[in-house]
Amino acid sequence: MKVTVARPTGLCFGVRRALLELENALKEHGRIYGLGSPIHNPQEIERLQNLGLIVVETPGEVPSGQPAFIRAHGISPEVRDGLACRTQLIVDGTCPFVRNVQEKAAFLKQEGYRLVVVGDAAHPEVQGILGYAGNGACVVSRVSDIPAGLEKGKTGVVCQTTQKVSVLQDIVQALAARAAELRVYNTICSATLERQRAVMELAPRVDGMIVIGGRNSANTGKLVEISKGCGVPTLWIEHSDELEGGWIQGKEKIGIAAGASTPDWLIQELISTLESARSPRGKD
Ligand code: SF4
Repeated sequence: MKVTVARPTGLCFGVRRALLELENALKEHGRIYGLGSPIHNPQEIERLQNLGLIVVETPGEVPSGQPAFIRAHGISPEVRDGLACRTQLIVDGTCPFVRNVQEKAAFLKQEGYRLVVVGDAAHPEVQGILGYAGNGACVVSRVSDIPAGLEKGKTGVVCQTTQKVSVLQDIVQALAARAAELRVYNTICSATLERQRAVMELAPRVDGMIVIGGRNSANTGKLVEISKGCGVPTLWIEHSDELEGGWIQGKEKIGIAAGASTPDWLIQELISTLESARSPRGKD
């Protein structure tokens, strides 16, 4: 059995950078309050909790004056103000690519555009962006979500950084046919595109693809969709413990891809598990 890892795959620049800042802060303060899970990966969260991370959902849960951490997804100006009322010790791990979307949304709002945010309405990154987008902004995840009434006025588009290019293309095409004036910023980040392309390139060369990453990770889910869309049997796992011998049996070439929130150590564990499966005594 040959095991090939998609390149690039796993932790993206933004999450790696945020985790580094978080770990440095944990070393300095011993304990830090993270606003939302800093990474969509339960195994990594458990490791960080053991180092002193306490995950909370709202600024009101941060004890006054205690250090707080903003994850790579970023937050809205309103939530940031709420946090600043609780503490001045804020470690900001907002990814620069997410910051760029927030700035583009604020710019379009200022220029009088009605904002369409292409993305998943429930995703924290999108909720943060909406805080910059102004009243009347809407979230669209498919063409049928596009609201009526765009024939007048100006429509601006930004996109959740982890969306599939094809989703943005379809929505922009439909908007172009309806909106009186349209201004689009493609804010899908290069890390996402590169990881999606790596899966597309690897899928035709393997008998099966294992995608490792949190089940709550949107970008991992997109990699699974892409791999399945290439017609290759695809297994989505969070941890190498979930690997069943039956699935790999009969497959000579296995591909591995990992979401942008999957830490290196989980990928490494999966490779070791596959290597032991290849050699029952783990020695050849
Ligand atoms: S996927 Fe892109 S935008 Fe999101 S954290 Fe990673 S580098 Fe930043």
